[in-house]
Amino acid sequence: MANLGRIVSVSGALITAAFDEPVVQNEVGYAMVDGLRLKAELIRVRGDYADLQVFEDTAGLYVGSQVEFTGEMLIAELGPGLLGQVVDGLQNPLFDLAAVSGYFLERGRYLEPLDRERSWSFTPRVEVGASVRAGDALGSVPEGEFEHRIMVPFAASGWLTVKSIVQAGDYTVEHVVATLEDERGRVLEVTMLQRWPVKLPIRAYRERLRPQEPLVTKIRIIDTLCPVSRGGTACIPGPFGAGKTVLQQLMSRHADVDVVIVAACGERAGEVVETLREFPELVDPRTGRSLMERTVIVCNTSSMPVAAREASVYTAVTIAEYYRQMGLDVLLLADSTSRWAQALREVSGRLEEIPGEEAFPAYLESVIAAFYERGGLTQLRDGSQGSVTIVGTVSPAGGNFEEPVTQSTLKVVGAFMGLSRERSDARRYPAIDPLDSWSHYPGVVPAAEVAFARTLLRTGNEVAQMMKVVGEEGTVIDDFVRYLQAEYLDAAYLQQDAFDAVDGATGAERQALVFSELVRLLRAPQRHADKDAARRHYQRLTQATKEWNRAPWGTPEFEAGRDRVRELAEVNVHA
Ligand code: ADP
Ligand code: MG
Repeated sequence: MANLGRIVSVSGALITAAFDEPVVQNEVGYAMVDGLRLKAELIRVRGDYADLQVFEDTAGLYVGSQVEFTGEMLIAELGPGLLGQVVDGLQNPLFDLAAVSGYFLERGRYLEPLDRERSWSFTPRVEVGASVRAGDALGSVPEGEFEHRIMVPFAASGWLTVKSIVQAGDYTVEHVVATLEDERGRVLEVTMLQRWPVKLPIRAYRERLRPQEPLVTKIRIIDTLCPVSRGGTACIPGPFGAGKTVLQQLMSRHADVDVVIVAACGERAGEVVETLREFPELVDPRTGRSLMERTVIVCNTSSMPVAAREASVYTAVTIAEYYRQMGLDVLLLADSTSRWAQALREVSGRLEEIPGEEAFPAYLESVIAAFYERGGLTQLRDGSQGSVTIVGTVSPAGGNFEEPVTQSTLKVVGAFMGLSRERSDARRYPAIDPLDSWSHYPGVVPAAEVAFARTLLRTGNEVAQMMKVVGEEGTVIDDFVRYLQAEYLDAAYLQQDAFDAVDGATGAERQALVFSELVRLLRAPQRHADKDAARRHYQRLTQATKEWNRAPWGTPEFEAGRDRVRELAEVNVHA
C-alpha cells in the first residue's frame, strides 16, 4: 500500500502535505499533477505536516493534490556504465534525455542512470563459502582503463557468506551475480547495480588515513606553493572571469588521478553548456583519447530548480566515493560551491528559518564541512588505498573573500588557491595569488626553497608598491633588483602557458629541478652596473627560462636550456 498524503499549501518549489502514516526526514515523495509524478524530497516534518522540496516546476499543483511517500532516501545508482556520463542532479542521463525530449527536460520524466540492456563482462573474484563484508569485491568488469569492482552492497552489515556466484560471462546490471547469507541467515541477492542514499557517506573501508602525499597537478604554482594532497581538500575562490573553470579543466586533465568527477553546479546556463561542449573535447594526456572516458559530469544550471542544484553536489560526491571504494584515486571538482550555497539559502528562506550571515542558513558552515569531509584517503579491507580529493571553487560577489561561503570553506580545507582579479587582468595565468595562497600539505619542492621564494615575492611586492609612490628613480638599486627578481620568478616559473604542450604540464621531478635551479641563481649575490643593465639582465633571463620551460623533459634541448640559463645567470654573479 502506498503511503499517501494531501497537499495543503504550495509556495514555489516548497509544498506542505498532510499525512497519516509515518514519514521520514529526507525521504523521497512524488507530487501528482495531471498524471505526472514530480519528484520531491521531504526536508522537514512538523506535527502532521511534511514540507517537501520539489525538484521541478510546481505549476499546476493545487491544494488537495496527492503526494506519494516512498520511504526511500534520494539515491544514486552505482555500477558499471557511470564513466563518460553527463547527468543532472537527480542522475538523469542528459544525453539520453535530450534524445527523448530535447534539452529542455519534460516535467516528471526521469530516466534510469544505468543502461539496463547493456551487458558487462563479469569475472568472479571470490568463491562460494568465502566470508565477505560490505564493500569487499565479489568480482570485476573492465570499464575504460581499469577494473570496475563489483562489491558487496555498502548497506550490508556484519560478515556474510557467499552462497552462490555466477561464472565469468556477460551479464546486465540487474542480473543477480551473487547471493550472500548474513549471520542471521537472511539471503541477499547482489546485482552489479547498487543504490546508495546520496546524503550519507559510503563508509565501507577499514580506516581513514591522513593525506600526506602530494597530488601532482602539473600546475607549477599549485604543486610548488599551495599543493593539494591525494585525498585532501582545496578551495579556489575567485571573481567572475578570473580563471576558476579553466583551472579546474587543467587539473582534470593533468592531475595524477584515475577518475574525475565534475559537479558543474548552478553556474549560468551558458557556462554549463560550455562545460558540456568543451569537456568531451578535452584530450586525456595519458591515453590521447577523450578525457570523458574516465570522467562523470553532474550538472545543473541556475535555471533548474534549486532542489536539484542542491542534490547535484551530493550525487557527485557519492559517485566519487564509489570509485574510491575500488581502490582508485578520484578527483572531485565542484564548480561553483557558491551556487550550491545559494540553493541552500533559497530553501532555508522558504522554510522561514532564522537566517545567519548574509541570509545564508545558520548551518551553512556545518553543511560545507560535512561535504568536504567526504573527501579523504582510505585504506580498504584488502589493504589497497583509494582517495577522493575535493577541489571546490567559490565565486564570491565582487571577489570579496570575506563572505560566508569562502570563510566557511577556508575553515575546513587544507589548501587555498585564491585567484586575483589583478593577476587575471594582467593575464598572469594561472591567476592564483602567490602571496595570499597557502597549503597545509607538503609540496614537490623543499620547504626551505618555498620559504625563500615567498620572502622574495613578498619583498618584490613591497618594492613594487613603494615604486608606485616614489617612482623608479626614488628606489635604491638593491631594492629594484629584488623587485626584478620577484618578477622573474613569477614570469618564468609561477606563470604557465596552458596552451603549450610542454610548458602546460610540468611533472614533479621537473618542478623540483627547475625550482632549485632558480632559487640557487636568485640566492647568488648580484652586481649590476645600473638599473637599466639589471632590467636587461632579467629580461634575457626570463626569455631563456621560458624557452627552457618549452623544452621537453629528458631531451638534449632540456639540457641546453639549463646551460643557457646558467650561463646568463653567471654573468652578474658578484664573486
Ligand atoms: P571563471 O570560471 O573564474 O569565471 P574562466 O575560467 O571561465 O573564469 O576564465 C575566463 C577566461 O580567462 C577564459 O575564457 C580564458 O580566456 C582566460 N583564462 C583563464 N585562465 C587561463 C589560463 N590558465 N590560461 C590562459 N587563459 C586563461
Ligand atoms: Mg567559471
